[in-house]
Amino acid sequence: MTILKNGTLVTPEGMKKADLAMDGDKIVKIGENLTAGAGDTVMDVTGCIVFPGFIDGHTHLDLVNNLGHTSDNFETGTRGAVCGGTTTCMDMATQEHGDTLVHTMEVWKDLAQNISCNYGIHMSITDWNEHTKAEIQTMAAEGITTYKTYLAYGIAIGDVETMEVLKELKSVHGICGVHCENGPLIPALQKQVLDSGITSPAGHPISKPSELEAEAINRLCYIASLVDAPVNVVHLSSKLGLEEVRAARKRGQTVYAETCPQYLLFDDSVYSRPDGSKWVLSPPIRKPEDVAAIRQAVIDGEIQTISTDHCPFDFSLKQSQAAKGFDQIPGGGAGVEHRPILMLTHFKDDLDYVQLNKLMSENTAKLFNLYPKKGALLEGSDADITVYDPSVKWTISAANQHQNVDHTPYEGFEVVGRMKYVYVNGQLAVVDGDPTGVQAGKFVRADCV
Ligand SMILES: [Zn+2]
Repeated sequence: MTILKNGTLVTPEGMKKADLAMDGDKIVKIGENLTAGAGDTVMDVTGCIVFPGFIDGHTHLDLVNNLGHTSDNFETGTRGAVCGGTTTCMDMATQEHGDTLVHTMEVWKDLAQNISCNYGIHMSITDWNEHTKAEIQTMAAEGITTYKTYLAYGIAIGDVETMEVLKELKSVHGICGVHCENGPLIPALQKQVLDSGITSPAGHPISKPSELEAEAINRLCYIASLVDAPVNVVHLSSKLGLEEVRAARKRGQTVYAETCPQYLLFDDSVYSRPDGSKWVLSPPIRKPEDVAAIRQAVIDGEIQTISTDHCPFDFSLKQSQAAKGFDQIPGGGAGVEHRPILMLTHFKDDLDYVQLNKLMSENTAKLFNLYPKKGALLEGSDADITVYDPSVKWTISAANQHQNVDHTPYEGFEVVGRMKYVYVNGQLAVVDGDPTGVQAGKFVRADCV
């Protein structure tokens, strides 16, 4: 047994000064003055905040597309994640056209080797047909009830298919996260911008204005209303998009919203920097008024989860592709390691630890059918635990990160606190922000309620 003594726990009922004991891969006891027996390990966590391990609800740890391969794979991406206090990543497993969901799952499980944190799978449907539909039940039996679809890009499915997916997922209490941008307008606007002579990353946000996001969210919400299904709007980035989420909720719909640190901590001035290609990701970084609106929505509880959309490409690759035009830069950014510390730093005056825990762990676990084995410090929950020491100050840099990418968009950001200890399935994976080398991650099954 390991006992964390003298910490302050973030529990579903609020902050609690208590000790926590874990045995094997479970939390077995929470209480005051727990006594250690012979052979027990006692860790003094005086002055620290003890969180349930953070969950990143949106990662692409090993993604290949026609413009490149992510610099991280599961081994390096989960190492970065756990060093930053994230003990579970929900990764997007993308179905190839013509492939089955079962085979897609097997491919992803093969990719997930030597993992330092847990992972779950969002199945990304790109080929909706009778067979795929039947596999929704098979996936539920395999512990996969969460999905992702796109309204844009080569992997998009149409409005009819979107409606049918949403309808079918109700039978497994599943949820679909949807990438909301108007698909046909993107290449048309990119061409307009390129034809006007703007080829640098400055053209990226101009070619994907927030109207494209808002229109897609509006359409998605009305489609969902036809089948009375909940939806999850992933990486919400704009004020116009937020207004569509609000409007659907006003009509009585269940609409969840996710945003990411990049939409809270940068504005579109990044695209005029010489290294602007680092922020070529979709949807793009928005204008200051959008950033203010999304930030306020986080504070007001209108946004339920903060994830990363971690999809890192080396700057060397992004920059060499940038020479061919902004539309040739592989889209995506790095963030899986730094999300918790960025949120704990930049929202510390607006949100308390209980609220931050909801955004980064509890709500995510609930939404994806992982609660309360994940997302809560409760007796019987999994021993995924992040011990945060708020007394340390340090500066984020590519030189001190553990994810595998040659830069970080957050270079030079000063942050408050460090992950003193991180436990994954009861095993000590991190000490003072550095990995112990223990790779205790497992596939996490969603429970179909
Ligand atoms: Zn994504």
